[in-house]
Amino acid sequence: MVTWIKTRRAVLGSRHLTPTPATIAVRGPRIASVSLPGDPPPTPGPDDVVVDVGDHLVTPAFVNGHTHLAMSAMRGVGLDAMAGNIIEDLYFRIEAELTAEDVRAFTRMGAAESLLAGVGAVWDHYYFAEAVAEGMVDMGLTGVVAPTLQDLAGPGVPRLEAALDATVAIATDAGLAEAGIVAACGPHATDTVSEALWTRLAQLADDHHLPIHAHVAQSIEEYRRSLDRHGSSPVDWLASLGVLKAGAGMLLVHGLYVTEADLGRLRPGTNVLCYCPFSQLQFGFPAAVEGWWKAGIPFVVGTDCGASNDSMSVQQELRLLASGRAFAVAPSSAGQRFRSSGDLSQARALDVLRRKRRDEQQALADPRTLLDTVWRVPGGLHPRLDVGRLVAGARANICIWDARHPAWWPRTSPVRALTMGDISTPWGLMVNGAWIGERGAVRESLLSSDEWREARAEADGRLRALAKRAGLPEWITALDG
Ligand SMILES: [Zn+2]
Repeated sequence: MVTWIKTRRAVLGSRHLTPTPATIAVRGPRIASVSLPGDPPPTPGPDDVVVDVGDHLVTPAFVNGHTHLAMSAMRGVGLDAMAGNIIEDLYFRIEAELTAEDVRAFTRMGAAESLLAGVGAVWDHYYFAEAVAEGMVDMGLTGVVAPTLQDLAGPGVPRLEAALDATVAIATDAGLAEAGIVAACGPHATDTVSEALWTRLAQLADDHHLPIHAHVAQSIEEYRRSLDRHGSSPVDWLASLGVLKAGAGMLLVHGLYVTEADLGRLRPGTNVLCYCPFSQLQFGFPAAVEGWWKAGIPFVVGTDCGASNDSMSVQQELRLLASGRAFAVAPSSAGQRFRSSGDLSQARALDVLRRKRRDEQQALADPRTLLDTVWRVPGGLHPRLDVGRLVAGARANICIWDARHPAWWPRTSPVRALTMGDISTPWGLMVNGAWIGERGAVRESLLSSDEWREARAEADGRLRALAKRAGLPEWITALDG
């Protein structure tokens, strides 16, 4: 059976932004064909289903370039610890108490929130990754799952061999591949993984042609340790180990402490940086993404986890990417000089700085650049998961947006709404060729289902038990409140 989605307005991908009439045929988990004006007319068979969505805009579903779905469980916990290194100070302590069943239950929560934000695929990185994959299958979400690998520090150390086995198991699981779930090699970071393990997993990535997905240069502690232990920056050290050219490419996440020299060492053909602006605002500071763009290094946008972002909507990251540099204007020394003096000359200097920042960032605000980060670049990063574009052969991850919603009014530029608006939950959502909930009531049908009620109750119970095991009384009180 083939499902034919017919629309008067489709945006086929970040390199095809002009809306066009289209009929998209979906067979199984993939797009079978895309018929455009001028093509031979589509010919549905008697058993086929034709869904005419009229004026509703049809686009690829979004791809979240970096997240930890299960960490939505830690949303709002330990915000005081953000002043230090929250990963080491708090998350590791909680994560040492996690079970596989907890991870599956918590992953469903992050997966459902992702779907409701129009995300069809995620790049996840976590412990008990087979449970992450199961939780994603439970909710119908696709993506690239990286079992977190650590051998020097972190809660993954005692489970290292299991995580290596899980990487191969997910990479070679035909059932998961059919469900749209594939593997990446997931070293945690440069300071929690030894040279021996980096070398070993680079070989693993080569053997299975897997991308490597790792946090790189994400904290001052990691940068200092790299200089102390190796006499070089995290990126420089990885380059010296040959990791940057291993496997099917490398996704380097956060890059807060990436230098200009480091950018020169990255390989634009296979190395991709990841920018998570809202998360970086909470745990650190927004990375110097305009420098990445100038250096020609492709990058994706991710939400990171619910614990350090609070939202799974990767679409909402885009306007921060587009114009976030403007936040640097007021706190600048020019800003301080103006506020203390009130001089017109200082006000003019502030305006000069505003224009300079705007010029520097203009290229990032281009809709094609913005949508590349959530469609084309992350969607083309894994050789076995083609998403982020509507083209024959790609996975059928498709959003249908309600043309009647005020966020799309006036109808001057749907691309503007996609990149700068808050378009919320799609009217219709297909992931891996299957509809998520009911068209026209995606949110309500998902949230009112018995499966969701049960999933939520299980996650609630498991979270309370986890908080008790981790010995965090304030967290328990907050959960009961
Ligand atoms: Zn992360």
